[in-house]
Amino acid sequence: MFCFSCKKEIPDSAVCPECGAPVISSPADDFEREVNKDGTITVVGYKGAGGEVGIPPVIDGKSVTGIGLRAFYEHKDVTGVSLPASVTSIRGFAFAGTAWFDAKMKEAPLVIVNGILIGGYTASGDVEIPDGVTVIGENAFDSCSEITGISVPDSVTRIEGAAFEGCSGLTDMTVPDSVAFIGDYAFAECASLESIHLPGSLKSIEHNTFQGCVSLLSITVPDGTERIGREAFLDCESLREVIIPDSVTELHDTAFEGCFELEKAVYKGHTYTKQTLDDLFAAVNNY
Ligand SMILES: [Zn+2]
Repeated sequence: MFCFSCKKEIPDSAVCPECGAPVISSPADDFEREVNKDGTITVVGYKGAGGEVGIPPVIDGKSVTGIGLRAFYEHKDVTGVSLPASVTSIRGFAFAGTAWFDAKMKEAPLVIVNGILIGGYTASGDVEIPDGVTVIGENAFDSCSEITGISVPDSVTRIEGAAFEGCSGLTDMTVPDSVAFIGDYAFAECASLESIHLPGSLKSIEHNTFQGCVSLLSITVPDGTERIGREAFLDCESLREVIIPDSVTELHDTAFEGCFELEKAVYKGHTYTKQTLDDLFAAVNNY
């Protein structure tokens, strides 16, 4: 939570423990919401009057855990936002275009709330994500063509969908082993990306993750990964070499579509080429 009186991050409470001011809690009806499968609430839209918005920790007797895709998008009249500690998921562009988000971005190019990096649209050069960030949010660096490098601390456990989509200036990247999940389209259209080190804790390469990485030369899928999804490497037209560990048992037959330069795909001691990809799919998927 944020106290609008003393401008400090505070633990969830009705009265600020720092300055004693009452903490703003906006009426539940200001928020469009959905009930999640686990019985918690995601705020998916905003219909209040703007100004300083205090999202309550509990709505309709249910814990508020998520902010939906574009929930506050372009609500320019929202000048402040206080999020309860219970919020652990913030979808793409949730606060983009609010006065609050624009002001935060002027303070520092990386906007981080509740450990979630929700936007770095004005970031450039080599970007160092601060220690303590646990999630790199959906679309966090969408189309940030000025970024040339990203350093990710090992506090990060998730990189959400499309997080780095269109980062066309990024040439290489190391994802630390703390990251167990990388969402779909996470590195799509990173047109200069030549190499990437993927974490050993990764279970799945989601669909379209590397779509359009036209400079990517080789990829080593980490040992322990079990599946490679649909169009995962679609149109990676420079991709020459792929190392697939024995742990992979599911490989979508469109995973390497448009990879015209693929010369060497290694799996269980066999080397396959683009002419023998069907044999690779049969070997992995066991048909
Ligand atoms: Zn205060």
